[in-house]
Amino acid sequence: MAKDTPQTFYLKDYTPFGFDVESVHLTFRLTPETTRVISKIRFAPKPDAADKTFFLHGEELQLISAKIDGQDATPDVTDKGLTCAVPSTPFTWEAEVEINPAGNTALEGLYMSNRMYCTQCEAEGFRKITYYPDRPDVMSTFTVRIEGDEPVMLSNGNPMGAGEGWAEWHDPWPKPAYLFALVAGDLVNHPGSFTTRSGKEVELNIWVRPGDENKCAFGMEALKKSMKWDEDVYGLEYDLELFNIVAVDDFNMGAMENKGLNIFNSSCVLASPETSTDANFERIEAIIAHEYFHNWTGNRITCRDWFQLCLKEGLTVFRDAQFTSDMRSEPVKRIDDVITLRARQFPEDNGPLAHPPRPEQFQEINNFYTATVYEKGAEVIGMLKRLVGDENYYKALKLYFERHDGQACTIEDWLKVFEDATGRDLQQFKLWYSQAGTPRVKVSEDYADGTYTLTFEQSTPPTPGQPDKAPRVIPMAVGLLSPNGDEVRGTQVLELTGAKQSFTFDGLASKPVPSILREFSAPVILERGTTNAERAFLLAHDTDPFNRWEAGNALAKETRVAMVLDGAAPDTAYLDALEKLVRDDEQDPAFRALVLSPPSQADIAQTLHERGYTPDPQKIYDAAETFTQTLAQQLETSLPRLYAATTVEGPYSPDAEGAGKRALNGRILSLLTRLDGGEQAARQYEAAGNMTQQYAALAALLKAEKGDAQSQAFFDQWQDDRLVMDKWFALQIACAAPEKTAAAAAGLTKHALFDMKNPNRFRAVMGALAGNHAGFHHASGEGYQLLADSLIALDKLNPQTTARMCAAFQTWKRYGSDRQALIRAQLTRIAGAEGLSRDTNEMVTRILDA
Ligand SMILES: [Zn+2]
Repeated sequence: MAKDTPQTFYLKDYTPFGFDVESVHLTFRLTPETTRVISKIRFAPKPDAADKTFFLHGEELQLISAKIDGQDATPDVTDKGLTCAVPSTPFTWEAEVEINPAGNTALEGLYMSNRMYCTQCEAEGFRKITYYPDRPDVMSTFTVRIEGDEPVMLSNGNPMGAGEGWAEWHDPWPKPAYLFALVAGDLVNHPGSFTTRSGKEVELNIWVRPGDENKCAFGMEALKKSMKWDEDVYGLEYDLELFNIVAVDDFNMGAMENKGLNIFNSSCVLASPETSTDANFERIEAIIAHEYFHNWTGNRITCRDWFQLCLKEGLTVFRDAQFTSDMRSEPVKRIDDVITLRARQFPEDNGPLAHPPRPEQFQEINNFYTATVYEKGAEVIGMLKRLVGDENYYKALKLYFERHDGQACTIEDWLKVFEDATGRDLQQFKLWYSQAGTPRVKVSEDYADGTYTLTFEQSTPPTPGQPDKAPRVIPMAVGLLSPNGDEVRGTQVLELTGAKQSFTFDGLASKPVPSILREFSAPVILERGTTNAERAFLLAHDTDPFNRWEAGNALAKETRVAMVLDGAAPDTAYLDALEKLVRDDEQDPAFRALVLSPPSQADIAQTLHERGYTPDPQKIYDAAETFTQTLAQQLETSLPRLYAATTVEGPYSPDAEGAGKRALNGRILSLLTRLDGGEQAARQYEAAGNMTQQYAALAALLKAEKGDAQSQAFFDQWQDDRLVMDKWFALQIACAAPEKTAAAAAGLTKHALFDMKNPNRFRAVMGALAGNHAGFHHASGEGYQLLADSLIALDKLNPQTTARMCAAFQTWKRYGSDRQALIRAQLTRIAGAEGLSRDTNEMVTRILDA
């Protein structure tokens, strides 16, 4: 069957819609397979519109009737929408359509999850609910009536009334259709309330399926903390009488910021000490904050078009990172974020899927909800704040909210408020939004007669469609240490603007040791010839916690690289430094846990690739095993004491201090398990009073291939809890040896509880497969084949999740020709699958074209 040529959309083609939407009234008559949606929309033609075409998006809708000002209309309908002749003065459009929520496995528009109705409209799901100008720059107030048998029926805004079989809602704040939401089902609420600083009472609810009520308390507290934090730090208050959160099991994303009715993947809101790990708690707190913060950065001020997605996402990720830093530990949060950035965004930026934070073209916008738009988008805002200073940053934000409230904006609008508030020219800075790729910054140094000179050279490798790059503004935070470990120059931010630039420091008694890119002040790759002795010095003495960790991380990487390339033994100086740090009880346990966490095997593969070698995943795995085993032996006499000292007694609390201690305890346990055959881990599994301890024990045992009994016990205990079972599925694959990984994953896809229609379960298995570096890239190619088989099958049900998971193949050009051939064959097979979705086709084509 021939495929349609996919349509490409370009930023440069933006044209405003030719009509204002003055009001929207929607009536839903809910039934699982034949829901009726009746819309009544008031349109006003814009007199000066360049394009006067009346086009409404609409997909997978059955049009029952259409009227204009009460008269039957005869629109031209295609599978993308409809056009219709309309009056040149304001008019009322009415349409009735039929949709099938029960048959909607793509989880876009109105669908059913566990017998509950719910919606997901971002980015372009509303067009699967009714005919509408489904674009973010069309904003209107919405009034919604829901008719059905469900005990709870919710929509955006404030409740207007409810009775037997109906409920009405009105949202007074104009919003784009992507923020529309409807939920109906058998739900129970965990209530709360918040008083804003101006004294308004806001009713809060977390709605869940009966049985999950006991997992809402943490989320509710996180919501209240977020509301308070946004008032205290940004001066932003909530603006409705009611704020609802609903937990849904089947959801493509993490959560969605629909106005006044946030819909969450249940994994991102439900929490209890028995079923959630410390990492789950921290993530839930951050996501609740993120979606709440969108009320201003996203909802009140939205995006003009989807090319501007990072306007709302970059800023909101930046804000939620600030929140987590304030609630927990700033250095730990920064280190965690950089680990994530390097694991997810750097491969994207340095591979076939590279695109700027503001892309200039797309076929399917769902494919641009990426680490570049989100995480790099947030890094760009962090750099901007560093360049203009804290005071100017908040001054600019205040101006942004005053000037653009109620508007759909662009990156140009955003940068203009900074220029107006600070008088600074941001023309060159804007390149961060338009250029893809991670800049390389080469550093050289010179010292003579008390003057120290640092020279920086920046360049960015070519990316698809962008062969040449201009130099960017790079804020480079630098401090200097004397050879005895004292800081002789505190942190200062050097501004790189040229391709090559030098900075001098005078009056130094001796050649200093530089601490460069403190706090990871810019998302760049630093290239500097340095020694392991200097890294060990910084690990011991740097005053910047990020760079202390970074020095340890670099040491770990160098050791692994030498082991892989030369078959070298683990570096003893590094092992000694690690031992000293781990045994130093004065040091923050969370920091020690981070230093003890090895760089990922994918990270080592990328490093080898950048240095011109072909990474061998099996050798990288073997080096990691040898190193960890050697470390365990070196620490042998200290491990029992460290394990006891880091065991948290008493009732569980998910706070940062306890979590840090438990993280270190988990690292110690995994080392101990290599020496004691799993005795301690088995005891911990038996005695565990919370999921963090239970999970850590099971992971250590499975890794040692001694966890069969505990794995069965875990299954028996938790088989009725979908979220805990996701952990069980993922852990078995994550802990499997390389030659057993694909078979473990294949076996689990045949398990009675494997359900491809549930994105969490699919990701638990296939995400764990792709995340087990040596297992996925095992020379047999079985991992590639299994993932390709699964993606082809899932694409028929859920294109969005399929397309995103294709990114597992994006690094394929790193590997040797045999693996490349195996991957190419699988990508080609996916590309040729019958009826392949537009989403997946775009991703596979981009990856193959590398
Ligand atoms: Zn967001």
